[in-house]
Amino acid sequence: MLPPAPPGVVPYIAGYSEEALLNPRIVRHLFFPGVAYADETPHDRDSFGMLWVRPTLLPRRRRGEPRLREVHPYRQRRAMANMMCQVCTRPPEDLDAPLLFLMRDTGGPVKEGERTASPPVCVPCAGISIQLCHALRRGHYVAARVEHAPAWGVAGLVYDPDTFTPHPGKELERVEYGTERALWTVAARAVVALYGVTPVDLEEEFAHLGTDRLEGEFARVAGLVGAGR
Ligand SMILES: [Zn+2]
Repeated sequence: MLPPAPPGVVPYIAGYSEEALLNPRIVRHLFFPGVAYADETPHDRDSFGMLWVRPTLLPRRRRGEPRLREVHPYRQRRAMANMMCQVCTRPPEDLDAPLLFLMRDTGGPVKEGERTASPPVCVPCAGISIQLCHALRRGHYVAARVEHAPAWGVAGLVYDPDTFTPHPGKELERVEYGTERALWTVAARAVVALYGVTPVDLEEEFAHLGTDRLEGEFARVAGLVGAGR
């Protein structure tokens, strides 16, 4: 039922070899206990006041080689904020309709209230992802439609107030907005909570779209590769 995925599709949120993070100097915030940048500007914080990493932003032709295991912080955040498909950037067709989330199966279906840093996908891109992404291959993913996915917090580096260095041995920690730890965090991913969760059988979704439509959609997504999004 599922046509073969076009090869070489690079998800919108993927990182590239030339897109290193900038390294601004971290200082104590002047007005509250927490971290700030020495040369901080209003663009460094989100609407919740959270400090964010500074990624480089390059046009597609200058980004270098795709790094499919890496996530670009700005593109991930943008996809999450607009609930765009994380592969092809298509916005939701109907803002009131439940969104499709596709995740690696880490032990059962998507749970009510579960939190994720993985933005939604459209059905055709789910069909591409489960063919091209080794971590999501058949039998290793879970999918659900979700009615509400409000901002919950971030995944980021949490600084120790005493040593003023990031917590050792940990990569990105999940931190809820409005908590004390949020003040000590430099965010690298937006995290949402999933509510109104209904498990989805993707095979049924593919069957519903039909092979012709899926082939057309796959061609559309393949055409975006190298289009300099
Ligand atoms: Zn898509």
